[in-house]
Amino acid sequence: MEKSFFVRTFGCQMNEHDSERISNLLIRDGYVSSDNALTADVVVLNTCCIRENADTKLYGNLGHLKAIKDEREDFKIVVAGCLAQKDRDLIRKRAPWVDLVVGTHNVSRVATLLEETSTKGPIVEILEESILDQEFFSSPGPRLSLPYSAYVTVQIGCDNNCAFCIVPQVRGKEISRPFGELLGEVRQLAQDGVTEITLLGQNVNSYGRDLTVDARRSGVFDSKIVGEQYLSEEGARLRPLFGDLMREVAQIDGISRVRFTSPHPKDLRPETIEAMASTKEIMNHLHFPLQSGSDRILALMHRGYSAERYLEKLRDARLGIDDLAVTTDIIVGFPGETEEDFEATLEVAASAQYDGAYTFIYSPRPGTEAAAMVDRFIAPEVISDRFDRLKVVIERSALARHEARIGRVEEVLVEGPSKKNPDHMSGRTAQNKLVHFNKEPQFNSAERLGVGSYVEVEITSATPYFLRGRLLNVVRSPRHRRKLQVAAY
Ligand code: SAM
Ligand code: SF4
Repeated sequence: MEKSFFVRTFGCQMNEHDSERISNLLIRDGYVSSDNALTADVVVLNTCCIRENADTKLYGNLGHLKAIKDEREDFKIVVAGCLAQKDRDLIRKRAPWVDLVVGTHNVSRVATLLEETSTKGPIVEILEESILDQEFFSSPGPRLSLPYSAYVTVQIGCDNNCAFCIVPQVRGKEISRPFGELLGEVRQLAQDGVTEITLLGQNVNSYGRDLTVDARRSGVFDSKIVGEQYLSEEGARLRPLFGDLMREVAQIDGISRVRFTSPHPKDLRPETIEAMASTKEIMNHLHFPLQSGSDRILALMHRGYSAERYLEKLRDARLGIDDLAVTTDIIVGFPGETEEDFEATLEVAASAQYDGAYTFIYSPRPGTEAAAMVDRFIAPEVISDRFDRLKVVIERSALARHEARIGRVEEVLVEGPSKKNPDHMSGRTAQNKLVHFNKEPQFNSAERLGVGSYVEVEITSATPYFLRGRLLNVVRSPRHRRKLQVAAY
Protein backbone atom coordinates (compact mmCIF):
# COMPACT_ATOMS: atom_id res chain seq x y z
CA MET A 1 0.00 0.00 0.00
CA GLU A 2 1.16 3.53 -0.76
CA LYS A 3 2.62 5.43 2.15
CA SER A 4 1.19 8.85 2.93
CA PHE A 5 2.66 12.08 4.26
CA PHE A 6 1.34 15.22 5.90
CA VAL A 7 3.25 18.54 5.87
CA ARG A 8 2.58 21.33 8.36
CA THR A 9 4.14 24.66 7.39
CA PHE A 10 4.95 27.46 9.81
CA GLY A 11 6.02 30.90 8.61
CA CYS A 12 6.54 32.70 5.36
CA GLN A 13 6.26 32.03 1.60
CA MET A 14 9.86 30.77 1.58
CA ASN A 15 8.81 28.04 3.96
CA GLU A 16 5.63 27.35 2.01
CA HIS A 17 7.85 26.97 -1.01
CA ASP A 18 10.21 24.59 0.81
CA SER A 19 7.18 22.57 1.91
CA GLU A 20 6.08 22.22 -1.71
CA ARG A 21 9.58 21.09 -2.59
CA ILE A 22 9.50 18.47 0.19
CA SER A 23 6.00 17.34 -0.83
CA ASN A 24 7.03 16.92 -4.45
CA LEU A 25 10.13 14.95 -3.52
CA LEU A 26 8.05 12.61 -1.40
CA ILE A 27 5.42 12.26 -4.15
CA ARG A 28 8.22 11.47 -6.59
CA ASP A 29 9.37 8.82 -4.12
CA GLY A 30 5.96 7.13 -4.24
CA TYR A 31 4.27 8.74 -1.24
CA VAL A 32 0.77 10.23 -1.45
CA SER A 33 -0.24 13.48 0.18
CA SER A 34 -2.63 13.32 3.13
CA ASP A 35 -4.52 16.02 5.00
CA ASN A 36 -4.62 14.05 8.22
CA ALA A 37 -1.57 14.02 10.50
CA LEU A 38 -3.10 11.31 12.69
CA THR A 39 -3.29 8.69 9.95
CA ALA A 40 -0.32 9.68 7.75
CA ASP A 41 2.82 7.51 7.67
CA VAL A 42 5.14 10.52 7.71
CA VAL A 43 4.58 13.94 9.30
CA VAL A 44 6.86 16.79 8.28
CA LEU A 45 6.94 19.92 10.45
CA ASN A 46 8.51 22.69 8.39
CA THR A 47 9.51 25.22 11.04
CA CYS A 48 10.09 28.97 11.12
CA CYS A 49 12.14 30.94 13.63
CA ILE A 50 11.60 34.50 12.37
CA ARG A 51 9.30 35.38 15.24
CA GLU A 52 8.40 34.24 18.75
CA ASN A 53 6.73 31.06 19.88
CA ALA A 54 8.31 28.99 17.15
CA ASP A 55 9.79 26.53 19.63
CA THR A 56 6.68 26.44 21.82
CA LYS A 57 4.62 25.58 18.74
CA LEU A 58 7.13 22.99 17.53
CA TYR A 59 7.47 21.16 20.84
CA GLY A 60 3.70 21.33 21.36
CA ASN A 61 3.22 19.61 18.00
CA LEU A 62 5.97 17.09 18.70
CA GLY A 63 4.32 16.28 22.04
CA HIS A 64 1.06 15.39 20.24
CA LEU A 65 2.92 13.32 17.65
CA LYS A 66 4.72 11.29 20.33
CA ALA A 67 1.44 9.57 21.17
CA ILE A 68 1.17 8.36 17.55
CA LYS A 69 4.82 7.28 17.52
CA ASP A 70 4.21 5.25 20.70
CA GLU A 71 1.39 3.39 18.97
CA ARG A 72 2.92 2.96 15.50
CA GLU A 73 6.62 2.24 15.36
CA ASP A 74 6.88 2.76 11.59
CA PHE A 75 5.39 6.27 11.88
CA LYS A 76 8.08 8.83 10.93
CA ILE A 77 8.50 12.39 12.16
CA VAL A 78 10.59 14.93 10.22
CA VAL A 79 11.52 18.41 11.44
CA ALA A 80 12.75 20.75 8.70
CA GLY A 81 13.17 24.51 8.19
CA CYS A 82 14.96 27.34 9.93
CA LEU A 83 14.26 26.36 13.52
CA ALA A 84 15.78 22.97 12.68
CA GLN A 85 18.77 24.79 11.19
CA LYS A 86 19.17 26.89 14.34
CA ASP A 87 18.42 24.33 17.06
CA ARG A 88 19.86 21.23 15.36
CA ASP A 89 20.76 18.62 18.03
CA LEU A 90 18.60 20.32 20.64
CA ILE A 91 15.50 19.07 18.84
CA ARG A 92 16.42 15.41 19.28
CA LYS A 93 17.52 16.09 22.84
CA ARG A 94 14.11 17.52 23.69
CA ALA A 95 12.15 15.13 21.45
CA PRO A 96 14.18 11.94 20.95
CA TRP A 97 11.24 10.36 19.07
CA VAL A 98 11.94 12.60 16.04
CA ASP A 99 13.34 10.52 13.12
CA LEU A 100 14.89 13.19 10.94
CA VAL A 101 16.08 16.76 11.47
CA VAL A 102 17.02 18.53 8.26
CA GLY A 103 18.11 22.18 7.82
CA THR A 104 17.32 24.86 5.27
CA HIS A 105 20.32 24.08 3.08
CA ASN A 106 19.47 20.47 2.35
CA VAL A 107 15.69 20.14 2.11
CA SER A 108 16.31 18.53 -1.27
CA ARG A 109 17.64 15.46 0.61
CA VAL A 110 14.52 14.85 2.71
CA ALA A 111 13.26 11.83 0.74
CA THR A 112 16.69 10.16 0.64
CA LEU A 113 17.40 10.79 4.31
CA LEU A 114 13.95 9.58 5.31
CA GLU A 115 14.65 6.33 3.52
CA GLU A 116 17.98 6.04 5.33
CA THR A 117 16.35 6.39 8.76
CA SER A 118 14.77 2.95 8.23
CA THR A 119 18.19 1.29 8.27
CA LYS A 120 20.37 3.75 10.18
CA GLY A 121 17.93 5.07 12.80
CA PRO A 122 17.42 8.77 13.60
CA ILE A 123 19.40 11.27 11.47
CA VAL A 124 20.29 14.93 12.05
CA GLU A 125 21.73 16.51 8.90
CA ILE A 126 22.31 20.24 8.99
CA LEU A 127 24.62 21.86 6.46
CA GLU A 128 26.22 25.27 6.99
CA GLU A 129 26.37 26.07 3.29
CA SER A 130 23.84 25.46 0.55
CA ILE A 131 24.27 22.46 -1.69
CA LEU A 132 24.32 24.24 -5.03
CA ASP A 133 23.04 21.30 -6.96
CA GLN A 134 20.27 21.25 -9.51
CA GLU A 135 17.93 19.60 -7.07
CA PHE A 136 18.37 22.29 -4.48
CA PHE A 137 17.84 25.16 -6.83
CA SER A 138 15.13 23.75 -9.03
CA SER A 139 11.56 24.78 -8.41
CA PRO A 140 9.15 22.23 -6.96
CA GLY A 141 6.75 23.02 -9.82
CA PRO A 142 3.22 24.42 -9.65
CA ARG A 143 1.86 25.12 -6.17
CA LEU A 144 0.10 22.05 -4.87
CA SER A 145 -2.94 23.96 -3.70
CA LEU A 146 -3.06 26.34 -6.70
CA PRO A 147 -1.83 24.46 -9.77
CA TYR A 148 -1.95 27.46 -12.12
CA SER A 149 0.47 29.33 -9.89
CA ALA A 150 4.11 28.72 -8.97
CA TYR A 151 6.69 30.19 -6.65
CA VAL A 152 10.13 30.44 -8.21
CA THR A 153 13.09 31.05 -5.91
CA VAL A 154 15.40 33.46 -7.69
CA GLN A 155 17.78 33.94 -4.82
CA ILE A 156 18.50 32.29 -1.49
CA GLY A 157 19.95 33.79 1.70
CA CYS A 158 20.49 37.43 2.60
CA ASP A 159 23.59 39.65 2.77
CA ASN A 160 21.96 42.35 4.92
CA ASN A 161 22.28 42.51 8.67
CA CYS A 162 19.04 43.92 10.04
CA ALA A 163 19.56 43.96 13.80
CA PHE A 164 16.29 42.12 14.54
CA CYS A 165 16.53 39.39 11.92
CA ILE A 166 17.70 35.81 12.13
CA VAL A 167 17.41 35.07 8.40
CA PRO A 168 21.11 35.60 7.51
CA GLN A 169 22.05 33.14 10.27
CA VAL A 170 19.70 30.41 9.14
CA ARG A 171 19.48 30.93 5.39
CA GLY A 172 23.12 31.88 4.73
CA LYS A 173 24.61 34.34 2.29
CA GLU A 174 22.80 35.68 -0.75
CA ILE A 175 23.13 33.56 -3.87
CA SER A 176 21.30 34.33 -7.12
CA ARG A 177 20.18 31.54 -9.39
CA PRO A 178 21.49 31.59 -12.94
CA PHE A 179 19.35 33.75 -15.21
CA GLY A 180 19.02 31.28 -18.09
CA GLU A 181 18.13 28.46 -15.74
CA LEU A 182 15.33 30.53 -14.20
CA LEU A 183 13.85 31.34 -17.60
CA GLY A 184 14.04 27.68 -18.59
CA GLU A 185 12.18 26.73 -15.44
CA VAL A 186 9.43 29.30 -16.02
CA ARG A 187 9.04 28.11 -19.64
CA GLN A 188 8.53 24.59 -18.34
CA LEU A 189 6.00 25.77 -15.76
CA ALA A 190 4.13 27.69 -18.47
CA GLN A 191 4.01 24.56 -20.59
CA ASP A 192 2.50 22.77 -17.61
CA GLY A 193 -0.34 25.30 -17.51
CA VAL A 194 1.00 27.77 -14.93
CA THR A 195 -0.05 31.34 -15.70
CA GLU A 196 1.07 33.14 -12.52
CA ILE A 197 4.66 33.27 -11.28
CA THR A 198 5.80 34.70 -7.94
CA LEU A 199 9.53 35.39 -7.85
CA LEU A 200 10.86 34.80 -4.34
CA GLY A 201 13.91 36.08 -2.51
CA GLN A 202 14.61 37.65 0.90
CA ASN A 203 16.00 40.65 -0.91
CA VAL A 204 14.50 39.84 -4.26
CA ASN A 205 15.23 43.13 -6.03
CA SER A 206 18.96 42.76 -5.50
CA TYR A 207 18.79 39.63 -7.67
CA GLY A 208 21.92 39.27 -9.79
CA ARG A 209 24.16 41.33 -7.48
CA ASP A 210 26.46 38.32 -7.11
CA LEU A 211 26.33 37.26 -10.77
CA THR A 212 29.58 38.87 -11.87
CA VAL A 213 31.74 38.78 -14.94
CA ASP A 214 33.81 36.05 -13.29
CA ALA A 215 30.74 33.96 -12.74
CA ARG A 216 29.76 34.48 -16.35
CA ARG A 217 33.19 33.53 -17.60
CA SER A 218 33.18 30.40 -15.50
CA GLY A 219 29.88 29.48 -17.13
CA VAL A 220 27.88 29.71 -13.90
CA PHE A 221 25.18 31.51 -15.79
CA ASP A 222 24.02 31.37 -19.31
CA SER A 223 26.11 33.77 -21.38
CA LYS A 224 23.74 33.58 -24.34
CA ILE A 225 20.98 35.25 -22.40
CA VAL A 226 22.91 37.24 -19.87
CA GLY A 227 25.67 38.16 -22.30
CA GLU A 228 25.81 41.37 -24.28
CA GLN A 229 22.08 41.78 -24.03
CA TYR A 230 22.45 43.13 -20.52
CA LEU A 231 25.52 45.26 -21.03
CA SER A 232 24.94 48.99 -21.30
CA GLU A 233 26.04 50.78 -24.48
CA GLU A 234 29.36 51.50 -22.82
CA GLY A 235 29.57 47.90 -21.76
CA ALA A 236 29.33 49.00 -18.11
CA ARG A 237 26.64 46.74 -16.76
CA LEU A 238 27.94 43.25 -16.31
CA ARG A 239 25.13 41.49 -14.60
CA PRO A 240 21.39 41.14 -15.07
CA LEU A 241 19.14 43.32 -12.93
CA PHE A 242 15.93 42.22 -11.28
CA GLY A 243 13.98 44.36 -13.75
CA ASP A 244 15.60 42.42 -16.63
CA LEU A 245 14.58 39.14 -15.04
CA MET A 246 10.97 40.23 -14.50
CA ARG A 247 10.65 41.47 -18.06
CA GLU A 248 12.01 38.22 -19.51
CA VAL A 249 9.75 36.11 -17.30
CA ALA A 250 6.75 38.24 -18.31
CA GLN A 251 7.46 37.63 -21.99
CA ILE A 252 7.27 33.86 -21.71
CA ASP A 253 4.34 32.51 -23.65
CA GLY A 254 1.48 31.60 -21.29
CA ILE A 255 2.59 33.75 -18.34
CA SER A 256 -0.07 36.38 -17.56
CA ARG A 257 0.88 37.45 -14.05
CA VAL A 258 4.30 38.07 -12.51
CA ARG A 259 4.61 38.91 -8.82
CA PHE A 260 7.56 39.17 -6.46
CA THR A 261 8.37 39.31 -2.77
CA SER A 262 10.14 40.75 -0.78
CA PRO A 263 11.99 43.72 -2.18
CA HIS A 264 14.19 45.79 0.12
CA PRO A 265 13.41 49.54 -0.03
CA LYS A 266 17.10 50.52 -0.06
CA ASP A 267 17.63 48.46 -3.22
CA LEU A 268 14.54 49.55 -5.16
CA ARG A 269 16.01 50.76 -8.44
CA PRO A 270 14.37 52.91 -11.12
CA GLU A 271 14.82 49.93 -13.49
CA THR A 272 12.50 47.81 -11.32
CA ILE A 273 9.86 50.56 -11.33
CA GLU A 274 10.31 51.00 -15.07
CA ALA A 275 9.88 47.25 -15.68
CA MET A 276 6.70 47.23 -13.58
CA ALA A 277 5.37 50.34 -15.30
CA SER A 278 5.97 49.15 -18.84
CA THR A 279 5.11 45.45 -18.64
CA LYS A 280 1.43 44.65 -18.29
CA GLU A 281 2.10 41.10 -17.05
CA ILE A 282 4.01 42.44 -14.01
CA MET A 283 1.28 43.04 -11.46
CA ASN A 284 0.72 46.47 -9.94
CA HIS A 285 1.43 45.46 -6.36
CA LEU A 286 4.52 46.39 -4.37
CA HIS A 287 5.26 44.86 -0.99
CA PHE A 288 7.53 47.52 0.52
CA PRO A 289 8.64 46.67 4.08
CA LEU A 290 8.99 49.83 6.20
CA GLN A 291 9.78 48.20 9.60
CA SER A 292 9.79 51.60 11.39
CA GLY A 293 9.06 55.24 10.56
CA SER A 294 11.66 56.59 13.00
CA ASP A 295 15.06 57.43 11.53
CA ARG A 296 16.69 56.65 14.87
CA ILE A 297 15.17 53.15 14.97
CA LEU A 298 15.82 52.55 11.26
CA ALA A 299 19.50 53.30 11.89
CA LEU A 300 19.60 50.96 14.90
CA MET A 301 17.96 48.31 12.72
CA HIS A 302 20.60 48.92 9.96
CA ARG A 303 17.90 49.25 7.32
CA GLY A 304 19.91 51.57 5.09
CA TYR A 305 17.20 54.20 4.47
CA SER A 306 15.56 57.09 6.29
CA ALA A 307 11.80 57.60 6.49
CA GLU A 308 12.10 60.45 4.01
CA ARG A 309 14.06 58.35 1.51
CA TYR A 310 11.54 55.53 1.89
CA LEU A 311 8.64 57.88 1.15
CA GLU A 312 10.52 59.36 -1.82
CA LYS A 313 10.99 55.91 -3.32
CA LEU A 314 7.36 55.12 -2.69
CA ARG A 315 6.33 58.35 -4.40
CA ASP A 316 8.49 57.46 -7.42
CA ALA A 317 6.90 54.02 -7.59
CA ARG A 318 3.38 55.47 -7.40
CA LEU A 319 4.15 58.11 -10.00
CA GLY A 320 5.64 55.54 -12.34
CA ILE A 321 3.24 52.62 -11.93
CA ASP A 322 -0.41 53.04 -12.73
CA ASP A 323 -2.88 52.12 -9.96
CA LEU A 324 -0.23 50.65 -7.65
CA ALA A 325 -1.23 48.78 -4.48
CA VAL A 326 1.33 48.99 -1.68
CA THR A 327 1.63 46.75 1.37
CA THR A 328 4.29 46.65 4.07
CA ASP A 329 5.83 44.99 7.14
CA ILE A 330 6.14 46.98 10.37
CA ILE A 331 7.73 45.91 13.66
CA VAL A 332 6.31 47.41 16.86
CA GLY A 333 8.43 47.61 20.01
CA PHE A 334 11.98 47.33 18.66
CA PRO A 335 14.31 47.76 21.70
CA GLY A 336 14.46 51.40 22.79
CA GLU A 337 11.43 52.48 20.68
CA THR A 338 10.08 55.63 22.40
CA GLU A 339 6.60 57.08 22.10
CA GLU A 340 8.11 59.67 19.76
CA ASP A 341 9.66 56.94 17.56
CA PHE A 342 6.36 55.13 17.43
CA GLU A 343 4.46 58.29 16.50
CA ALA A 344 6.89 58.73 13.62
CA THR A 345 5.88 55.23 12.45
CA LEU A 346 2.21 56.20 12.66
CA GLU A 347 2.91 59.31 10.62
CA VAL A 348 4.81 57.48 7.88
CA ALA A 349 2.15 54.76 7.77
CA ALA A 350 -0.61 57.38 7.44
CA SER A 351 1.29 59.20 4.73
CA ALA A 352 2.14 56.00 2.82
CA GLN A 353 -1.59 55.16 2.59
CA TYR A 354 -1.00 51.42 2.61
CA ASP A 355 -3.43 48.92 1.12
CA GLY A 356 -2.50 46.56 3.94
CA ALA A 357 0.29 45.66 6.34
CA TYR A 358 1.76 42.76 8.23
CA THR A 359 2.37 44.20 11.69
CA PHE A 360 4.66 42.30 14.04
CA ILE A 361 5.44 42.58 17.71
CA TYR A 362 9.22 42.68 18.10
CA SER A 363 10.50 39.28 19.13
CA PRO A 364 14.10 38.84 20.31
CA ARG A 365 15.82 36.21 18.16
CA PRO A 366 18.82 34.65 19.89
CA GLY A 367 22.13 35.62 18.32
CA THR A 368 20.82 38.79 16.64
CA GLU A 369 22.16 42.23 17.56
CA ALA A 370 18.84 43.51 18.89
CA ALA A 371 18.34 40.51 21.16
CA ALA A 372 21.31 41.72 23.21
CA MET A 373 19.65 45.11 23.89
CA VAL A 374 17.85 43.59 26.88
CA ASP A 375 18.01 46.78 28.94
CA ARG A 376 15.97 48.56 26.25
CA PHE A 377 13.21 45.96 25.77
CA ILE A 378 9.76 47.54 25.74
CA ALA A 379 7.08 46.52 28.25
CA PRO A 380 4.49 44.16 26.70
CA GLU A 381 1.54 46.39 27.65
CA VAL A 382 3.17 49.39 25.91
CA ILE A 383 3.76 47.29 22.78
CA SER A 384 0.22 45.97 22.82
CA ASP A 385 -1.22 49.51 23.02
CA ARG A 386 1.03 50.68 20.13
CA PHE A 387 0.13 47.62 18.09
CA ASP A 388 -3.58 48.43 18.38
CA ARG A 389 -3.02 52.08 17.46
CA LEU A 390 -1.02 51.10 14.38
CA LYS A 391 -3.76 48.71 13.31
CA VAL A 392 -6.28 51.57 13.35
CA VAL A 393 -4.09 53.66 11.02
CA ILE A 394 -3.47 50.76 8.61
CA GLU A 395 -7.13 49.71 8.53
CA ARG A 396 -8.21 53.29 7.86
CA SER A 397 -6.10 53.63 4.70
CA ALA A 398 -6.82 50.05 3.59
CA LEU A 399 -10.57 50.61 3.84
CA ALA A 400 -10.37 53.94 2.01
CA ARG A 401 -8.31 52.42 -0.80
CA HIS A 402 -10.62 49.42 -1.05
CA GLU A 403 -13.79 51.52 -1.01
CA ALA A 404 -12.35 53.57 -3.86
CA ARG A 405 -12.51 50.40 -5.98
CA ILE A 406 -16.27 49.94 -5.58
CA GLY A 407 -17.91 50.06 -9.01
CA ARG A 408 -14.72 49.10 -10.85
CA VAL A 409 -14.43 45.95 -12.94
CA GLU A 410 -11.37 43.91 -11.94
CA GLU A 411 -9.79 40.90 -13.59
CA VAL A 412 -9.68 38.14 -10.98
CA LEU A 413 -7.74 34.90 -11.01
CA VAL A 414 -10.01 32.29 -9.40
CA GLU A 415 -8.58 30.41 -6.39
CA GLY A 416 -11.66 28.27 -5.67
CA PRO A 417 -14.78 28.26 -3.51
CA SER A 418 -14.74 30.83 -0.71
CA LYS A 419 -13.59 29.28 2.58
CA LYS A 420 -16.28 31.18 4.49
CA ASN A 421 -19.19 30.66 2.12
CA PRO A 422 -19.14 27.77 -0.35
CA ASP A 423 -21.80 29.52 -2.43
CA HIS A 424 -19.20 32.14 -3.28
CA MET A 425 -15.90 31.96 -5.13
CA SER A 426 -12.64 33.67 -4.17
CA GLY A 427 -9.76 34.98 -6.20
CA ARG A 428 -7.14 37.70 -6.48
CA THR A 429 -7.09 40.93 -8.46
CA ALA A 430 -3.98 42.21 -10.23
CA GLN A 431 -3.26 44.22 -7.08
CA ASN A 432 -3.33 40.92 -5.13
CA LYS A 433 -6.54 41.80 -3.35
CA LEU A 434 -8.70 38.95 -2.16
CA VAL A 435 -12.21 39.15 -3.69
CA HIS A 436 -15.20 37.02 -2.77
CA PHE A 437 -17.83 36.97 -5.47
CA ASN A 438 -21.13 35.28 -6.15
CA LYS A 439 -21.56 32.41 -8.56
CA GLU A 440 -24.22 33.55 -11.00
CA PRO A 441 -26.38 30.57 -12.06
CA GLN A 442 -25.29 30.88 -15.70
CA PHE A 443 -21.66 30.43 -14.63
CA ASN A 444 -22.23 27.50 -12.34
CA SER A 445 -20.34 25.03 -14.47
CA ALA A 446 -17.39 23.85 -12.39
CA GLU A 447 -15.30 23.57 -15.52
CA ARG A 448 -15.75 27.14 -16.67
CA LEU A 449 -15.30 28.63 -13.23
CA GLY A 450 -12.54 26.28 -12.18
CA VAL A 451 -9.45 27.14 -10.21
CA GLY A 452 -7.15 29.10 -12.49
CA SER A 453 -9.88 30.79 -14.56
CA TYR A 454 -9.63 34.51 -15.22
CA VAL A 455 -12.94 36.28 -14.65
CA GLU A 456 -14.24 39.84 -14.58
CA VAL A 457 -15.81 40.92 -11.31
CA GLU A 458 -17.55 44.18 -10.50
CA ILE A 459 -16.56 45.33 -7.00
CA THR A 460 -19.65 45.95 -4.90
CA SER A 461 -18.36 46.42 -1.34
CA ALA A 462 -15.15 46.56 0.64
CA THR A 463 -13.59 45.86 4.04
CA PRO A 464 -9.99 46.63 5.10
CA TYR A 465 -9.01 43.03 4.31
CA PHE A 466 -10.98 41.98 1.24
CA LEU A 467 -13.40 43.04 -1.47
CA ARG A 468 -16.79 41.63 -2.45
CA GLY A 469 -18.06 41.54 -5.97
CA ARG A 470 -20.41 40.32 -8.67
CA LEU A 471 -19.23 38.01 -11.39
CA LEU A 472 -19.68 39.57 -14.84
CA ASN A 473 -17.84 37.38 -17.24
CA VAL A 474 -15.47 34.42 -17.59
CA VAL A 475 -12.51 35.74 -19.57
CA ARG A 476 -10.71 32.42 -19.97
CA SER A 477 -10.70 29.00 -18.37
CA PRO A 478 -7.46 27.29 -17.40
CA ARG A 479 -5.84 25.21 -20.07
CA HIS A 480 -3.41 22.66 -18.73
CA ARG A 481 -1.24 21.45 -21.56
CA ARG A 482 0.16 18.68 -19.40
CA LYS A 483 -1.55 16.92 -16.56
CA LEU A 484 -0.69 18.78 -13.38
CA GLN A 485 0.10 16.99 -10.19
CA VAL A 486 -2.40 18.20 -7.63
CA ALA A 487 -2.29 17.18 -4.03
CA ALA A 488 -3.92 18.74 -1.00
CA TYR A 489 -2.18 19.05 2.32
N1 SAM B 1 13.64 40.36 3.67
C1 SAM B 1 12.47 41.05 4.03
C2 SAM B 1 12.78 42.52 4.30
O1 SAM B 1 13.88 42.90 4.49
O2 SAM B 1 11.84 43.27 4.41
C3 SAM B 1 11.79 40.48 5.24
C4 SAM B 1 11.84 39.06 5.51
S1 SAM B 1 11.30 38.61 7.12
C5 SAM B 1 11.26 36.93 6.84
C6 SAM B 1 9.60 39.06 7.13
C7 SAM B 1 9.24 40.07 8.16
O3 SAM B 1 9.30 39.51 9.45
C8 SAM B 1 10.16 41.28 8.24
O4 SAM B 1 9.88 42.22 7.26
C9 SAM B 1 9.91 41.81 9.63
O5 SAM B 1 8.89 42.77 9.64
C10 SAM B 1 9.46 40.56 10.39
N2 SAM B 1 10.46 40.16 11.38
C11 SAM B 1 11.67 39.65 11.14
N3 SAM B 1 12.34 39.44 12.29
C12 SAM B 1 11.50 39.85 13.28
C13 SAM B 1 11.61 39.89 14.69
N4 SAM B 1 12.71 39.52 15.32
N5 SAM B 1 10.55 40.33 15.40
C14 SAM B 1 9.42 40.73 14.79
N6 SAM B 1 9.27 40.72 13.45
C15 SAM B 1 10.30 40.29 12.71
FE1 SF4 C 1 16.22 39.84 7.40
FE2 SF4 C 1 16.96 42.30 6.74
FE3 SF4 C 1 17.69 40.22 5.22
FE4 SF4 C 1 15.14 41.01 5.26
S1 SF4 C 1 16.87 42.20 4.50
S2 SF4 C 1 15.89 38.90 5.42
S3 SF4 C 1 14.88 41.65 7.36
S4 SF4 C 1 18.33 40.64 7.31
